[in-house]
Amino acid sequence: ERRKKYKNYISLDDIPIWSHSDASSPDETHEINKKISLFRGDITKLEIDAIANAANKTLLGGGGVDGAIHSGAGPFLRKECSTLGGCETGKAKITGAYNLPAKYVIHTVGPIAHGSVGEREKLALRDCYYNCLHTAIENNLRTVAFPCISTGVYGYPPDEAVKVALATVKEFLETHHAQMDRVIFCVFLKSDEELYKKNLPVYFSQG
Ligand code: ADP
Repeated sequence: ERRKKYKNYISLDDIPIWSHSDASSPDETHEINKKISLFRGDITKLEIDAIANAANKTLLGGGGVDGAIHSGAGPFLRKECSTLGGCETGKAKITGAYNLPAKYVIHTVGPIAHGSVGEREKLALRDCYYNCLHTAIENNLRTVAFPCISTGVYGYPPDEAVKVALATVKEFLETHHAQMDRVIFCVFLKSDEELYKKNLPVYFSQG
């Protein structure tokens, strides 16, 4: 308890479930809508089964969220990652989380977009979200947080990425809801928070 306070860890119990503001909607009761949260802040602070990492193909660390995860986890994360032989775009690999409050890190490699996306990049980004979730359930992990994969240095337009993220998580939960309790969209930027607030009702207000 003391450690938790000192490190500013964030418990899942303190992150509200996202739900459509119209409480009278019958869709309010739909199962998967109760498994989604939007959280703005540092993903490395979350006490959760798994956090996804927007890594690069080497899995040896980088900038952005990858850098934050490696510096929070400590050098043993890099050591474990160095045994994995890298990771292809769209695939996912799981490691321990070491000094982080999360139990595991699921590393995925987003497509490099440089500002414009075609079908290939869309499918690769979809694979990232899908394969992370699949890796989670294979390991009996029931709560997962995602950063906005590819939208930083990799240049995927955030207003396009949000749609892929939401559509893929929705699709996954529809077929695997018994194995997953919570998916957190962990945004870092105010602009991404706005994009998610705008798009969440499109994907999660209705059955
Ligand atoms: P990529 O190389 O896949 O584009 P980046 O790390 O450059 O990955 O950016 C992905 C997203 O992660 C961006 O929206 C960035 O603002 C966000 N981000 C950076 N640091 C953190 C953090 N500590 N927690 C959550 N998200 C973060």
